[in-house]
Amino acid sequence: MALSLTVLGSNAAMPAYGRITSAQVLHSNNFLYLIDCGEGTRIRLSEYKIKRNKIAVIFISHLHGDHCFGLPGVISSFFHFSRSQKLKIIGPVGIKKLINTFMEVSEGHLMYELEIIEHTADTFNLIYQNKDLEVYAFPLKHRIKTNGYLFRELQRDSNLIKEKITEFNLTIEEMRKLKKGLDIQRPNELILADEVTKQKTPAKSFAYCSDTIYDESLIDIVREVDLLYHETTYLHELKEKARARMHATSYEAAQLAKAASVSRLLIGHYSGMYRTPDALLDEAQSVFENSIAAYDGLMIDI
Ligand SMILES: [Zn+2]
Repeated sequence: MALSLTVLGSNAAMPAYGRITSAQVLHSNNFLYLIDCGEGTRIRLSEYKIKRNKIAVIFISHLHGDHCFGLPGVISSFFHFSRSQKLKIIGPVGIKKLINTFMEVSEGHLMYELEIIEHTADTFNLIYQNKDLEVYAFPLKHRIKTNGYLFRELQRDSNLIKEKITEFNLTIEEMRKLKKGLDIQRPNELILADEVTKQKTPAKSFAYCSDTIYDESLIDIVREVDLLYHETTYLHELKEKARARMHATSYEAAQLAKAASVSRLLIGHYSGMYRTPDALLDEAQSVFENSIAAYDGLMIDI
């Protein structure tokens, strides 16, 4: 089991310099999760050969166009891929009206079930779970109601080493306990879970914070995640502008990553004034070395 991420769009507000607006795909086992859906997402899904029928849920952070104007294209494009599986879309209040309006005026008919869940986070809470992962929503401070999302893989039971089952003549009940990491005490022997199971890969976590001002209340929420995505619309020299528009600077995103002791920081959501994210990355790395700059097409193993 592994989590990985593909960045589809890394720009703020308007597509520029080959970067479209916000969209990312999180890969987990057999399912994909689309996080935000800026204009051009449908094209990127094709370009990067993302198996769109595997998208189980679309999470939308907020209803500014650079995070959701790609929805009509993506939702209708499933028609050309004979989608029959249910699709869930989770986003702040208003998303139902947005989707239902364009479906209505375009007289669109879907061949699959579409479930739209409106959730405007005012606190940290669980909004989605399946056997592989849990997703929590939490509030970000932006000009309109905005959700951040925290994806946490669930720790799976360890696998038993085949030969050990016969060697110790393990019962079903013993196997169940050993898989959970519990040792077995028999009258004349102790069977250690560590000796009869394969090392399990640690559960991974990914936090998505776009768009937001620098907000220290996020530190506890994203503490020690394996990958933190935090928007960095501007360099810190434009911190007043960032604050006025309720965005963050590279310096601030890196400060948050450092304070929360995350493993890696991914920056993105760059203003169209920057031809490349080089200066933004330099600024982030001067505070938090394990910073990576998002670009359209970037793939990261989490
Ligand atoms: Zn934005």
